[in-house]
Amino acid sequence: MPDEKTRITCRFCGAANSVPVEAALRDLSKPRCGRCKEGLFRVNGEPLTDVTDDHLAHPWDREALAKLKAIPYADELLSSVLGSTLDKMTRFSLLAGAVEVGERQAPSLLRIYLEAAGRLDVDPPPLYIVQTPLVNAFTSGASRPVVAVTTGLLDGMDDRELLAVLGHELTHVKLGHVLYRTLAQLLAQGGMGILSKFLGIARLLAMPLRIALARWYQMAELSADRGELVATGSLEVCVRTHMLLAGGSRRLASELDVGAFIEQADRAEAMRDSELFVYVMDMLGNTARTHPLPAWRVHHVLAWARSPAFLELMGGTWRPALERSAS
Ligand SMILES: [Zn+2]
Ligand SMILES: [Zn+2]
Repeated sequence: MPDEKTRITCRFCGAANSVPVEAALRDLSKPRCGRCKEGLFRVNGEPLTDVTDDHLAHPWDREALAKLKAIPYADELLSSVLGSTLDKMTRFSLLAGAVEVGERQAPSLLRIYLEAAGRLDVDPPPLYIVQTPLVNAFTSGASRPVVAVTTGLLDGMDDRELLAVLGHELTHVKLGHVLYRTLAQLLAQGGMGILSKFLGIARLLAMPLRIALARWYQMAELSADRGELVATGSLEVCVRTHMLLAGGSRRLASELDVGAFIEQADRAEAMRDSELFVYVMDMLGNTARTHPLPAWRVHHVLAWARSPAFLELMGGTWRPALERSAS
């Protein structure tokens, strides 16, 4: 199959370059402008001030969130009634039980975190390290979010993979996912019992809201994975990170193959039918895992990586559709 090409305008000299997509995705630092010889893509950790919600939000995320918000009272209940309580609970539990990252506390991790925040043009909320061998990261809270990574994650991943995971979490922050995600996690972990007891709002447990929330939760992952790809600027790192989350071990790191995992992701997608999918999602929703089905997600992040939107964003000459049609 011939490698499809896309047109990338050089951000330095304005020359139009025809770039083979698959070859470029193997290493975005390689393609150079035919005229001025500068690198065509912004992949060296430089901040991207032009990355928007429109780039990152997957259409299924938007659709599911709109359905969730259309449920009567969902929005008011969730944000006004629970918001400040959740913020306080989250902040207290991390301040009292985890390590807060800062200039004097794990500064190398802080640097990676700030790089991810700069790539995604998001104000980074406080970052915490939580002691557990589980390989995980999460964003929690409501209007004042916090991000946390586990010691299992820090010990199992290298700097670039951590950048991917932090980019993923910061995308949840950027897209305003945090309150709904916190609630979905509380529901999955049975924590709603405590909340509804002490706030007296049994209505939150209403089935339509629960179903809409659980469904949206999965779709929001597809958006956050786009942010992960933008943060690293590397499809290889992004897929490797998902592979490690799926079943990676440092011990086998040199034997793990990104190409084989992509093939596996395609096989998983071919096998998916919607009923089976919903059932498995439901099952996974009841476990401690906050980022389920890595292979399914790899399939979707690949599709976006191959789209002109991603490469144009990396090229730094992306313009909104409106502006495009006007010119
Ligand atoms: Zn050029
Ligand atoms: Zn996520």
